[in-house]
Amino acid sequence: MAEDKKLGFDDTPLIPGTKWHVHDGQRPQPPVVTPGCESTQDSPGAAPSDAIILFDGKDASGWVKASDRVSPITWKVADGCMEVTPKGGGIATKEHFGDCQLHLEWASPAEVSGDDQGRGNSGAFLMGLYEIQILDCYDNLTYADGTTGGVYGQCPPLANACREPGQWQTYDIIWVAPRFIGDGRVIPARVTVLHNGVLLHHDRVLMGPTQYRQVASYQPHAETGPLVLQDHGDPVRFRNIWYRPIGGYDRT
Ligand code: MG
Repeated sequence: MAEDKKLGFDDTPLIPGTKWHVHDGQRPQPPVVTPGCESTQDSPGAAPSDAIILFDGKDASGWVKASDRVSPITWKVADGCMEVTPKGGGIATKEHFGDCQLHLEWASPAEVSGDDQGRGNSGAFLMGLYEIQILDCYDNLTYADGTTGGVYGQCPPLANACREPGQWQTYDIIWVAPRFIGDGRVIPARVTVLHNGVLLHHDRVLMGPTQYRQVASYQPHAETGPLVLQDHGDPVRFRNIWYRPIGGYDRT
């Protein structure tokens, strides 16, 4: 990327409680951290015994097109993973869930093309609404709140823990869904995210469903929703996707 290329936006609204605009190109970049664990390159991790498997590397029958939530997906499923088919559209799990521990593994294209938001862009939308950004930010600058693992348009990650393009990477996400408690009141969603074992967010409060160039805000929605993976035109791959509902203590 040219040194003088302008990042992000300065004509978007200010994010309340901060001095930064939505997708502010001047917002500080998260520090680069090299992840420590290299154990996931050869094979996907194994899911815990009680996990609900969303994608095991072979069977994508639990997924539908995000656009109509009915049609079969057209992403490529081969070699133990599935790959975004550009213009194939986003995909959604048939399974709907709320509070959870979610694990997924993804890889941006080994062959680098594009820059900024145009390099290895996808996204994991919790409940189909709240995006944790997937992007190749290995030696690729973009606006801070659009960095890999950012709560897109709201909060940059605490670190940039990207592996090199083409490498498998892990997200471990603890998600607490928003609660709509009547009279327009909401207990906001909260998220904790680890990327390749590096903490990106700890119990971070979300301002509302993901928006582009707008300040997010809540409108009541269902208590559960699907996991949606974004088609942003780049052939990002996925494998080993599972979740565990967050249970209560002292269950009998
Ligand atoms: Mg994205």
